Amino acid sequence: MERAFISHLRERLPTNENVVVGPGDDAAVLKLFDDANIVVTVDALTDGVDFALSEVDASRIGHKALAVNFSDLAAMAARPVAAFVSLVLPKFEGDRIARQLYDGILPLADRFGVAIAGGDTNSWDGPLAIAITALGETTPRGPLTRGGARPGDALLVTGSLGGSILGKHLDFTPRVEEAIFLHQRHALTAGIDISDGLSRDLHHLCHESGCGAMLRLDSIPIADAARTLAANETSSKTAVEHALSDGEDFELLFAAPEAVAETILREQPLDVPISLIGQFTNRNEVIALAADGTQTTLPNTGWEHRI
Ligand SMILES: [Mg+2]
Repeated sequence: MERAFISHLRERLPTNENVVVGPGDDAAVLKLFDDANIVVTVDALTDGVDFALSEVDASRIGHKALAVNFSDLAAMAARPVAAFVSLVLPKFEGDRIARQLYDGILPLADRFGVAIAGGDTNSWDGPLAIAITALGETTPRGPLTRGGARPGDALLVTGSLGGSILGKHLDFTPRVEEAIFLHQRHALTAGIDISDGLSRDLHHLCHESGCGAMLRLDSIPIADAARTLAANETSSKTAVEHALSDGEDFELLFAAPEAVAETILREQPLDVPISLIGQFTNRNEVIALAADGTQTTLPNTGWEHRI
């Protein structure tokens, strides 16, 4: 439902010349002066939908609520500058929950030199809801959008994927420094942070760039957590299926011209590994290429085992 609603809404939203990048990317880019762009993103998380307050310390929820915003700024290769925190607290134990939320928010803001520049706090008879708006600034190279990948570009990803439900989805470090470093030094063509899962977010990149992709299944960096899930659970998902569909990895999925990708892969300039997992194509679909040469169309809804 969300996807259809957003498509419908995007066709109707008013805009103006100061909106350089509007809805449809990881964050919006506003042109305020001739030489500066400001990048804006907002995320809302609700108890019972995005987390379970009864099962998780609220400080981890606070960390996540801010980190998801930073991850969206990272996806635009923007440096976070300020954040605004809106809390709707349950009446019961609201003060304690607020304190714990900030125990997670403040260290992360501090780590990235980000100001908590404002916000709002209310309470009600319902569950906890937290909405954070974050502002960032682009580097001199400008924003990294979802729309710049071209056929022939390499498809790269940071870190490893899958199984984030075992902890990474709450405790991840957004790839801010990594994205800015790479985009400043190299001409990346497109980028997105993996929140919906590799398969869906690759479709987002392809859709906005107007091209397709060939994804090499045996090149996907699989997280240990994905292997743990595949080994333990009763469902029939394999580790690579977890890596394709789990989501909330908050790694950076990006495109670069082949020569640039070769340099990045040779230098491996980050603390976290960078993997080449495929190539953008001029076909209008995402193809999963297995090690034995089998090609399968990857559905937009995420990975479904078909072989
Ligand atoms: Mg995003």
